[in-house]
Amino acid sequence: MSAVMNETAQGGKSAEKIALENNKLHKRLCRLVGQAIGDFNMIEDGDKVMVCLSGGKDSYALLDILMTLRERAPIHFDIVAVNLDQKQPNFPAEVLPAYLTELGIAFHIENQDTYSIVKRLIPEGKTTCSLCSRLRRGILYRVADELGATKIALGHHRDDILETFFLNMFFGGKLKGMPAKLVSDDGKHVVIRPMAYVKEADTARYAEVKGFPIIPCDLCGSQENLQRKQIKAMLREWEKKHPGRVENIYSSLSTVVPSHLMDRALFDFVNVKADGVPNPLGDIAFDEEPCATPTTMPGTIPLQSF
Ligand code: SF4
Repeated sequence: MSAVMNETAQGGKSAEKIALENNKLHKRLCRLVGQAIGDFNMIEDGDKVMVCLSGGKDSYALLDILMTLRERAPIHFDIVAVNLDQKQPNFPAEVLPAYLTELGIAFHIENQDTYSIVKRLIPEGKTTCSLCSRLRRGILYRVADELGATKIALGHHRDDILETFFLNMFFGGKLKGMPAKLVSDDGKHVVIRPMAYVKEADTARYAEVKGFPIIPCDLCGSQENLQRKQIKAMLREWEKKHPGRVENIYSSLSTVVPSHLMDRALFDFVNVKADGVPNPLGDIAFDEEPCATPTTMPGTIPLQSF
């Protein structure tokens, strides 16, 4: 680790203990990113991976871990870091080029004044993020073409995925998260999220340990989305009060049972027929609980079960 936090910042832990924890954190990040890459076949031999670097903790962590994994990987792939300078007021344009030059990694800074476009088109007080993101996406796809990148890597982590999942459910009426791998909406690129298994708390800690030169994310003057803020707070509360709950929700995203949901496009409910074959893994989830411990009249389900 390049920067070991001092003892006071770490609650009086010894330097060895801190170094050990930092080392474990680095190993955990490498393991989880490697696992996500493998599970979703994110990176293949000969790929050129364009890592989108915003100057936030997550994209720095992504680039850093991908560079480590590239050294160890049995396949060959190239990395090019790309930052889009959107010309927000007070954007410290020298920070990323200096960092990337010192790192010795290929990089490209794309200068596009999307800030002025957004300010011109969106009335004062209205949220600017959706137009801003749309413009950014289009520019990044064009840059990926120009650089010959075969994959576009984004720094979203487990918590971003969970928040998006609840946002879509609570406010959009959809069971939909943020995919670990997808085809871009122009149909031309494969976008990957190698940090999909990583907790935000780990990227925050890693950024501290490594001393990444973080660029503030509120330079555009936009407020954080209020709904996302609420979801974040809800998940934080659950994590504190009900350890394991958030983990379980996250695993449920990769253990989907379409026959036990209500989407007729995913499961052919119309043609469900009894076939006379017993299925021990059929509809048994939680059935036994109210029946096994009858506390009320037979046939009724105790209120406390709800
Ligand atoms: S926070 Fe600012 S820079 Fe980020 S998407 Fe929204 S408008 Fe764009």
